[in-house]
Amino acid sequence: MTKKRVFSGIRPTGEFHLGNYFGALRTWVDLVENYECIYSVVDYHAITTPFDPKEMPLTIFNSMASLLAIGLSPENCSLMLQSDVPEHTELAWVLSCIAPLGQMERMTQFKEKSQQSPENINLGLLSYPALMASDIIVYRAQAVPVGDDQVQHLELTRDLTRKFNNQYGEFFPDPEPILSKTPRLMGLDGKSKMSKSLGNHISLFEQPDVLQKKVLTAVTDENRKRRSDPGNPDICNIFALHNIFSSAEEVETVNRECRTAGIGCVDCKKMLLTHVEPFIAPFRDRYTELQNKPAEVHEAFQEGAKRCRPIARETVDGVKQRMGLGSHAVSQQSVTAS
Ligand code: ATP
Ligand code: MG
Repeated sequence: MTKKRVFSGIRPTGEFHLGNYFGALRTWVDLVENYECIYSVVDYHAITTPFDPKEMPLTIFNSMASLLAIGLSPENCSLMLQSDVPEHTELAWVLSCIAPLGQMERMTQFKEKSQQSPENINLGLLSYPALMASDIIVYRAQAVPVGDDQVQHLELTRDLTRKFNNQYGEFFPDPEPILSKTPRLMGLDGKSKMSKSLGNHISLFEQPDVLQKKVLTAVTDENRKRRSDPGNPDICNIFALHNIFSSAEEVETVNRECRTAGIGCVDCKKMLLTHVEPFIAPFRDRYTELQNKPAEVHEAFQEGAKRCRPIARETVDGVKQRMGLGSHAVSQQSVTAS
């Protein structure tokens, strides 16, 4: 039986963090066993928000190395850089001609990112979900692992594929979301979701001293002003991380002792650190190793692009044919007419 195809992407906008891992990347790794997976560093998505072209190559390289460091490789999936396969942007144009403007304007991420960079509300930020839809359907992927923040975009993708199929004939499968058990991890500021571009994250490759500093200064339950005040784990980020990293028994202890002021936030944070550091260490080691083996990283992505290009080309040719576009369709027309 042929395996179902999965596609997912991540922006090269900074260091990959625990939110990315537990919201998406962990699922990426799990899926390689039973699906044919294509994973992408989506560099064209990164230019919708402010970036420095001088830093971009290194950020992209580090993102590529990050995917290898967490256990993905050409042996278990296809890894590719979005701009290496131009069909992504070609199909995105077609989809942007199908996407209703009002629906694009209602996208939560468009509103949030517009607020974050009010001086740079570009058309790409608005059409971002059309490019994301293209990334997925250019491979006719059947499933997409995503965090909570991308669910709305995937819904739009499904709307666009249905619309295309209705107007031009059945062609694209309906891509299903695969949600992880941690679809939304909050940032250390306690205000927004953990995010590469907001600087409120714990990197997957964090050095021990930086990790310690970040955790010890993280916002907890802000109503707990003094050590003797009881805390509320339900609204505490550190408790959310305990839920991921600590045993059920320890979670129970932290829950009880926080509510009765039996432990303070510093105690709670130190307990958490004993689990996070050993979790991060092997990722960090492999990531550091790859920094010294750039050829391994480049080769993995070149191989991926080579596998992906023919699939994407076939899809775009199929789209053009169904829409009556391009010289091939025109020459067919003259054959029929003559
Ligand atoms: P940026 O701030 O540049 O948008 P990001 O951290 O939001 O970066 P993306 O590249 O936009 O990361 O998303 C990559 C994947 O990680 C997506 O599937 C997204 O749903 C998931 N993800 C991102 N942040 C979180 C989070 N805090 N919790 C759970 N999943 C997340
Ligand atoms: Mg994001």
